[in-house]
Amino acid sequence: MTDTMTAEQRHKCMSHIRSKATKPELKVRHWLWMHGYRYRLNVKSVPGKPDIVMRPYRTAIFVNGCFWHGHEDCNSFKMPKTNTDFWLAKIERNKQRDRQNYCILQDNGWNVIVIWECQLKPSRLEQTMREVEILLNENMLALYKKHTPLPYSIDEAAPIPMAAEE
Ligand SMILES: [Zn+2]
Repeated sequence: MTDTMTAEQRHKCMSHIRSKATKPELKVRHWLWMHGYRYRLNVKSVPGKPDIVMRPYRTAIFVNGCFWHGHEDCNSFKMPKTNTDFWLAKIERNKQRDRQNYCILQDNGWNVIVIWECQLKPSRLEQTMREVEILLNENMLALYKKHTPLPYSIDEAAPIPMAAEE
C-alpha cells in the first residue's frame, strides 16, 4: 500500500490516534468489548448522558476524569496554583451536577457505576474492570430477583404500535 501522507500529516494523524486511544473511556469500552459485553454510548434519552449504557444490566457507567469531577483523596492530579478558587468552584459545580445525575438515574431504577481515571492506570485497569464486572453481575442478579416490573425508561416509552384492528 502506497503511503501518500506527508510526514506532517502522518504526525498529526498519529498524535490524534494516540490521544484518542488513551482516553479513559476508551479503555473501559475496549475491556468490556473484549470480554463480550455490549453497550451503547452517550444515550441522550438516559438522564445525565452516561458514557456507557448497558441496558440489560440496567446500568449506567460514568468514566470520570479525576480533576474535572473532583475525585476525593486522589493524588493523580495537581490543583493549579493560580486561579485556585476558580477551579475549585468549577469542580464543585461539576460534582453537584454529577450527584444530581446519579440521583435521577437511581430514582429511575438505574444502577450507576463510576470509574475514575486513576483506576484505569495500566497497573490497576484489570483489577478495576474485574470489580466492575462483579457489579454488573450483581445488578443483573438483582433484576432477576425483583419481580416487580421495571419503570419505563424514557426512550422505551415510545408509542406502542397497535396490533389489533378496529
Ligand atoms: Zn483519581
